[in-house]
Amino acid sequence: MTDINKLRNQIDEIDSQLAELFQKRMETVEKVAEYKKLNGISTNDPSREQKIIEKHLPEVEEKWQPYYRDFQEELFVLSKKYQDTKNLNDDPFIRYGMDFSEYRDAAFNASQNARKAMARNPETVNGTVGSLCGDDGTIIAFDSVYDAYDRVPNKRKASYAGGIQGNPDFNETVFNWLNRLDNIRIPHRNVATPGGTGAISLAVTNLLDKHETLLIPSIAWGSYRVMAGQHDLKVDTYDIFENNEVSINGMKKKCAEMMEHQNKVVIIINDPCQNPTGATMGKNLWAELIEYLNELSKQGPVAIINDIAYFDYAIDWQNSTAYMECFNEMSDNMLAVVCFSCSKTLTAYGMRVGNAMILARREEAAEHLYNTFIRTARASWSNVNNGFMDCFVKMVNENKEGFLKEKQEALDLLKNRSRIFLQEAEECGLPLYPYKEGFFATVRIDDEDLLNRYHKALDSHDIYTVKFARGIRVALCGIPTNKCIGLAGRMKDILNEVM
Ligand code: PLP
Repeated sequence: MTDINKLRNQIDEIDSQLAELFQKRMETVEKVAEYKKLNGISTNDPSREQKIIEKHLPEVEEKWQPYYRDFQEELFVLSKKYQDTKNLNDDPFIRYGMDFSEYRDAAFNASQNARKAMARNPETVNGTVGSLCGDDGTIIAFDSVYDAYDRVPNKRKASYAGGIQGNPDFNETVFNWLNRLDNIRIPHRNVATPGGTGAISLAVTNLLDKHETLLIPSIAWGSYRVMAGQHDLKVDTYDIFENNEVSINGMKKKCAEMMEHQNKVVIIINDPCQNPTGATMGKNLWAELIEYLNELSKQGPVAIINDIAYFDYAIDWQNSTAYMECFNEMSDNMLAVVCFSCSKTLTAYGMRVGNAMILARREEAAEHLYNTFIRTARASWSNVNNGFMDCFVKMVNENKEGFLKEKQEALDLLKNRSRIFLQEAEECGLPLYPYKEGFFATVRIDDEDLLNRYHKALDSHDIYTVKFARGIRVALCGIPTNKCIGLAGRMKDILNEVM
């Protein structure tokens, strides 16, 4: 008998033992399900799952531990899947594990409330939605963009895109747009996506296995969690501040832990102009981070999802975007997916166009991920708005200067609003996260009770904001300058009332 046959026989025997143990485990699970049903106890008990893993992990050799963790987690899933058939607290039509409770989007809900309030009180402050508005309170739509769109022939608008990956000239234009400082020197692949959301979602779903953990900032855009949830991923968070200053220490610590637990790190970094705090890391911190992750990548792959939604609205653009150069220094066991949004750069939110730019030193790594992105795209949205991809290319080739001028005017508006708000916040002692640039500033509130009370109180004063974990986000991008004047002081007074 060949060696492989011997080994296969051994595996068969082990599988028989596992089958017997599996049967025993499920029979016990059945009793637990009956008990839970009788006593009205929920199937899901994450803290018990964690305890079980921690108890048994040391029984397995260290090198197998990450795999044992996955094995045990898969058992929990199967066990809960069965328990739910008994407990009837699942919906039989919907895939197991999906959250089918009503979806409430914090920003969109808050914005609806603000609009209702505005109808009865024109003094209402709508600081809810991340769209750039002029001082008349309406959305900014750049002529340079929509004139270019009008020049796109109707038949082009009506057509499918040139490929699932997007139009080649669009992908190239996006690459050149992001590489304006001419500092990206490693292989790249670009895929057109529906908005930045599509790009981030492609990365999240293709880089991690079910039940693995995605690292995101502790205060972050809410959609990251929704994306993780939809794909049965867990989320862990890192702090981006230390002593109220931007810091990478929290990231380093969590990345090291993650590498130990799952032999792989996938981290979302929303930089520059982080939503919701307005923090920017800058090139020095990026360089230090890449150096650290290079070292860590000797133990396993490291992928950075760099959400650059607000890239073109960095006040200090040259310095805040120069960090892209650091990606050239990534090791062979690292890659980055840079997620670009036309919603933000072109204020074309409704056009739903974005791009995922894969950067990797190994051409093959970039190519493989590119191929998986295309398959996922084919299976979900098929292809991206052809007319608007053409519009971007036209605008850049025919009227880039006109666009940059309009964008600068919008940026100046934003700069002025943030200057007013920040200065007044400092004068009155409204505690903010360290804002540098971008659409939002965030009031720092660590106490959850106080956070809830404060948010409600602001609503009742017709100041509409979005509540985040440990903060109240103020969308300066949407508040006319005259309403920014005195806003920080009013917000501080209301904070004093609820303290
Ligand atoms: N990333 C962040 C942090 C955002 O705030 C947004 C939109 O609000 C996006 C990405 C993606 O936006 P879109 O899908 O419209 O491009």
